[in-house]
Amino acid sequence: MVRFILFSAFFLILYYVIKGFLKSLKSRKVLKTGSKQAGKQPPIIDVLVQDPVCGVYCPKKDALTLNWRGKTYYFCSDKCRNEFRDQKK
Ligand SMILES: [Zn+2]
Repeated sequence: MVRFILFSAFFLILYYVIKGFLKSLKSRKVLKTGSKQAGKQPPIIDVLVQDPVCGVYCPKKDALTLNWRGKTYYFCSDKCRNEFRDQKK
């Protein structure tokens, strides 16, 4: 009986150690990406994309997209997208 309690206690500790380890791995990943973004762009919650025409940064979810030669480009407005399209003709 004592053995069983020791065993379950051991597994409980092992469980918490693994859980903590995974947590630290996750937080390290978040820190890495966070510092990367902070170095390049101002810290804004949404992902920012740069308009190649006017150079303005806008949220990815609000940006207009255009696929050109397998690459996706993001634009602040329809006007910029048309201008880009005309340039690539
Ligand atoms: Zn623009």
